[in-house]
Amino acid sequence: MTDGTTFFKFCPNCSSEDFDYTNNFKFHCYSCDFVLYHNIAAAVAIIFTYEDKVLFTVRNIDPDKGKLDLPGGFIDPGETAEEAACREIKEEIGLEISLTQLQYVTSSPNNYLYKKVAYRTMDIFYECSLDSEEMEITAKDEIQDLIWIKRSEIDLNKIGFISIKEVIEKHYFLEK
Ligand SMILES: [Zn+2]
Repeated sequence: MTDGTTFFKFCPNCSSEDFDYTNNFKFHCYSCDFVLYHNIAAAVAIIFTYEDKVLFTVRNIDPDKGKLDLPGGFIDPGETAEEAACREIKEEIGLEISLTQLQYVTSSPNNYLYKKVAYRTMDIFYECSLDSEEMEITAKDEIQDLIWIKRSEIDLNKIGFISIKEVIEKHYFLEK
């Protein structure tokens, strides 16, 4: 069975084509009983705030190239979510943030289609309040621009990922 995002054509253990991969979640080979779970991946997103503004990045890579995003990324094996947040911030915008500057906001599920593999993620959101809006991009391959936007002027339709759109709309967006 294929639905366009299935990335196995054969069982990786015995090469059989007789398998079930319902909902891209549990791979089960009927020939050799091999089982593989494509579990959700954990990721972090950081909402920087300064006065009445929120910092957005503009994505320079697919998925959603050109759309608004937040600094962040996948949590590496063995990392805490907070360590991943600090590492991603350092990598993407060169800021040294301490764990205590991160305030947990909420979590929200997302879909992340990368090179035909549909990852399901759980995005963990932190807020980090800053004393200055001076910023620079250090990961220019991933980020084409950094934009501070007033909470009343955020265009939710320009945000790429559904998880980020929902959290910004619920927790940060202000009606004019
Ligand atoms: Zn098999």
